[in-house]
Amino acid sequence: MQRILIVEDEEAIANLININLTAEGYRCICAYDGKMGADYMEKETFDLILLDIMLPEINGYELLEYVKPIGTPVIFLTAKSDVAERIKGLKLGADDYITKPFQIGELSARVEALLRRYGNKNKKLFFSGVEIDTDSRIVRKDGKTVDLTVKEFDLLVELIQNKNVALYREQLYRKV
Ligand code: CA
Repeated sequence: MQRILIVEDEEAIANLININLTAEGYRCICAYDGKMGADYMEKETFDLILLDIMLPEINGYELLEYVKPIGTPVIFLTAKSDVAERIKGLKLGADDYITKPFQIGELSARVEALLRRYGNKNKKLFFSGVEIDTDSRIVRKDGKTVDLTVKEFDLLVELIQNKNVALYREQLYRKV
């Protein structure tokens, strides 16, 4: 299931997005300020981030700087149809933007399009200082390459993809 982080301080908007995207089969998590958003980005892996710009604690531009090295696609939610704001967001590396107020159907169409565009392009996993490139099968911990056997690698990927989910030993045996 694809995971979406919604960083939006207007709870009514965040919850509206959450309800709609959840109904479309995405797994959504809401962060109601920039700090909370940064915490989630640090702890978990997401397939896409919806990012408001004006946020308490840490604003959307700063959060975008934080997300860019991770490579997660980002759609900015901009309050006004301010062209300068949108250009700044796109220059900083946002993949798309949507202006509030928006039609929820448009938002979900853009989410779907962006996820399709990214497809499996982003084959890196991140977990507390560990970076895994599932294409080249390279694992780095704090920037240093870690040597793993094939089995160890598969097990690590399986565990990170299912973090916070209890896995049965039989399931792991079967998959790895
Ligand atoms: Ca806001």
